[in-house]
Amino acid sequence: MRVGVGYDSHRFDDTRPLILGGVHIPDAPGLAAHSDGDAIAHAVTDAILGAAALGDIGQLYPDTDPAHEGRDSIEMLEAAVARLAEEGLRVGNVDVTVITERPKVGPHVPDIRARLAEPLGVSAASVSVNGKSNEGMGWIGRGEGLAVIAVATVGPADGD
Ligand code: MG
Repeated sequence: MRVGVGYDSHRFDDTRPLILGGVHIPDAPGLAAHSDGDAIAHAVTDAILGAAALGDIGQLYPDTDPAHEGRDSIEMLEAAVARLAEEGLRVGNVDVTVITERPKVGPHVPDIRARLAEPLGVSAASVSVNGKSNEGMGWIGRGEGLAVIAVATVGPADGD
């Protein structure tokens, strides 16, 4: 079994919808980004790529490429899972922490777990998502943006 970690952060942008883990979260500012700004999808993608030592999302999808503008980040996650499969690897489980003062992530956790499980090829029981505040400290505390930390395990596709 192999372990990987992924981190992502984005600045809030009131003009965009908030998408986290492939789920639209209403009544909250979106995230500035070249893609759809889905920081959970980005951190999870980096965690599984990291576990397989296959680089990171920036190498797979350079943000200088217009083809990735506004792109659905769940598609990028699917492509990373497919990349792992080429190496004979599959995802075991993921654990995600979202650090933000707003919005509250808790009410959306069941939807996010179910949504992430599909591209990862695991059950929702293998996807953990938690939100926590930064206790008002620093840029997260001031509500300038949010950060996500994800850990993933990866193992042989033919293992049990
Ligand atoms: Mg990102």
